[in-house]
Amino acid sequence: MSALGAALDRFERRMEQGREDPFFMSREWLDLRYKVIKKSAGCCQCCGGRADADNSLQVDHIKPRSKFPELSLVESNLQVLCRRCNLGKGNKDATDWRFEPSRELRILEGLEPARRFKLQQLGWLKVNGDSKQIRTAAHAEYRRLWREIETAWASNLPGAPK
Ligand SMILES: [Zn+2]
Repeated sequence: MSALGAALDRFERRMEQGREDPFFMSREWLDLRYKVIKKSAGCCQCCGGRADADNSLQVDHIKPRSKFPELSLVESNLQVLCRRCNLGKGNKDATDWRFEPSRELRILEGLEPARRFKLQQLGWLKVNGDSKQIRTAAHAEYRRLWREIETAWASNLPGAPK
């Protein structure tokens, strides 16, 4: 199995273990999280969808905790996104999705789950992969896959050249 293949396997196991950051288990976070979800009436603030078994609601930091730890518990920095919408966001993107879904999210919405999951795996690995080699390989594969998806999406728009 290739290094990237092995890393993808480990990713799946890690996803099952859940989030390891103790912040997400703190009383302050859990209270605030509950408050924000309640206000959203249980709907994703990007696509308006309701949670179901395959698509849970997540409370997202608009400005990511890694760069803005001081905003971790600031309510106006939080938005409720479904897992599907949150997926494309990552830590580098501090876009506030509460108003206008971006092109990227609209593309992700229409994507079949297997490819979406693949993108998610690669997106995680390019930041968190065990070695530079894995991170670089994941980054290249992510870009390749995203270009392929974006091209297919654009060619299905009304008025696109066939
Ligand atoms: Zn959504």
